[in-house]
Amino acid sequence: MKKRIEDFAKLENEGADTLPSAERRRFLRLGLTVTGVFAGGTVLSLTSSRPARGALVGGEMLRKDPYKPHYSMVIREDRCIDCQRCMDACVKTNDVPEYGYRTTILERELEVGPGEKQREFMPVLCNHCNRPPCVRVCPTKATYKDEKTGIVMMHYEKCIGCKTCMAACPYNARYFNEEKRAIDKCNFCFDTRLSKGEKLTACAAACPADVRIFGDIADPDSRVYKLVHEPTRVVWVLRPETGAMPNVFYTKG
Ligand code: SF4
Ligand code: SF4
Ligand code: SF4
Repeated sequence: MKKRIEDFAKLENEGADTLPSAERRRFLRLGLTVTGVFAGGTVLSLTSSRPARGALVGGEMLRKDPYKPHYSMVIREDRCIDCQRCMDACVKTNDVPEYGYRTTILERELEVGPGEKQREFMPVLCNHCNRPPCVRVCPTKATYKDEKTGIVMMHYEKCIGCKTCMAACPYNARYFNEEKRAIDKCNFCFDTRLSKGEKLTACAAACPADVRIFGDIADPDSRVYKLVHEPTRVVWVLRPETGAMPNVFYTKG
C-alpha cells in the first residue's frame, strides 16, 4: 500500500522534543520562522522572506558548513505525476532490494469540491541534513557527513546494524539492507554517478516532469540556487521543527 503524507508527518522519532533547547533556539535564530501550516499539520511552510533564505542557505549555515560543491535538491512537488520512474532508476542504479527504498512517493487525496477529489504526490528521500540526527547517534561513526560535499554517507563495514540511526531520522529515510548487513540510504548517487563524473542523480535524470532539480547550492549559477533564491517563490523544508536542517527543499511550480 502506498504511504501517505499524513503518516509521514506523524512519524515517531527523536524529533524536536529531545533536541537540546540551545539547538532549537539556534534554529529559530537562523530565521527559520514557521509561518503557516502546510498540508496536514506537522509539515510546515517557512517564511519565504529573503532574510530567512539567506540564513538557510547563504549565511551562517554555509559559513559553518563550507561544502564545495554543496549538493542539494529542490523538489517541485506539484509537478509530480507519480510515474515512479525516479524510484525505478534509483533501484537499478543503486541495487536497492525489493524490500528497501532510497526514495519513495508519498500520496494524499484532497477534497477539492463536492464529490471531487484530487491526488497529490510528494517525493521523499534522505535530506542530507546539515545537522543530521542519524550521524549524532551512530555509535560506530558508520554514518557520517562528507566534509567535501555535505552528503550524508555510510561506511557499510562499520555498521553494526543497531538501527539507532533509523530511529533518530525524522524522515524515515533509512532501511536495513539484509545483503549488506548494514543500514542503507540515499547518498545522492555519489558512488554510482557523481564520483564518475555524472552531474545528476539517477532520480533527477529519469524524471520526465523535471520535478527533482539537483545541483550545487553554493553555486549562484546553479538551478537549485536560483530556485531557492527566487524572491517571490515559497520554499520550504520538511519537518523544520526537528532542527535537522535539510538540504532538500520543496516548492511548487
Ligand atoms: S534525512 Fe535522516 S538519514 Fe538523511 S541525513 Fe537527515 S537524519 Fe540522516
Ligand atoms: S539521489 Fe540517487 S540514491 Fe538518492 S534517491 Fe535519487 S537516485 Fe536514489
Ligand atoms: S519521476 Fe518525477 S514525476 Fe515521476 S514519480 Fe518521480 S518525481 Fe514524480
